[in-house]
Amino acid sequence: MMAAILQKPRHFSLEQHPLPKPRYDEVLVRTRASGICTSELDMWEGKAKGLEFPRFIGHEPSGIVESVGSDVTSISVGDHVAAWSEGKSYAEYFVSRESHLYKLRQDTPFEQALGEPIACAVNGVRKADVQLNDNVCIVGCGFMGLIMLQVFKANGAGLLAAIDTRESILDLAKQLGATHIMNPRRVNVKKAVLEITEGRGMDIGVEGSGRQETLDMTSELVRMEGKLEVFGYHQGEPRKVDWAYWNWMAFQIINGHTRSGHIYVEGMKIGLRLLEDRKLNMKPLITHRFRLDEINNAFEIASAKEEGFVKGVITFEDGWRS
Ligand SMILES: [Zn+2]
Repeated sequence: MMAAILQKPRHFSLEQHPLPKPRYDEVLVRTRASGICTSELDMWEGKAKGLEFPRFIGHEPSGIVESVGSDVTSISVGDHVAAWSEGKSYAEYFVSRESHLYKLRQDTPFEQALGEPIACAVNGVRKADVQLNDNVCIVGCGFMGLIMLQVFKANGAGLLAAIDTRESILDLAKQLGATHIMNPRRVNVKKAVLEITEGRGMDIGVEGSGRQETLDMTSELVRMEGKLEVFGYHQGEPRKVDWAYWNWMAFQIINGHTRSGHIYVEGMKIGLRLLEDRKLNMKPLITHRFRLDEINNAFEIASAKEEGFVKGVITFEDGWRS
């Protein structure tokens, strides 16, 4: 099978690899789509320290079951599946444990059934433990934020403010159910949030982009004793926090990440059911599609995050090359 291997920063090469063999509790899947993840950009850009190369990455796959191990009972050949995966999915086939798969409906588009990011977003919302009519803001509302926004809505959130500097993201957020959209380059966000919450501040503030600025802004918007959830993927220099202020405000501080496999999978199943029940709209979020042989260009574009980019997917619908 053809696989894209990250040989060094900014360079994937296509290689022939032997077809992986599923163990007794695993399934071999013919890849139909594999999402490009922000968490992979650091290794691609060479910013992540201490990494060894080459690396066989890709962890957001979906596809069609090709064969199953001897003990597999819930999945059959021909089933459409999404996987929570730990890598090796930028390839024509991947293997997954049966327990890490979600059986998709036959009409669910593969490119929308991205198990891992949907799992993270759903679990982020579950950790916030939103109560009926809680007012929520998401600061840095990219692909993950736009999924979380919809899941918060499905969970009965009240006001839902999307805050981002990209106008195309804000338009999408509005379309997907944000009650308010705010661009910090155009408005004083703190003032605007106090206005719409009658001076209280937000019950829940989600920091969604893993930067110092978004961390600072989120802490300005959450009400006293409200929940401040750090969901963004923070890398590089240690962040600074005004702990005296955080103490005084008695924030409930939540780490939006999850590391337990079974919770990941649980979140993935909930999210994919929301997708198939039309409560989660992934269609407008998939803005860029690439074949496997375009993967270097795909990463360039994902890393540039130009206006209009939300999520890129490697798709195998028409084969892996032109
Ligand atoms: Zn991911």
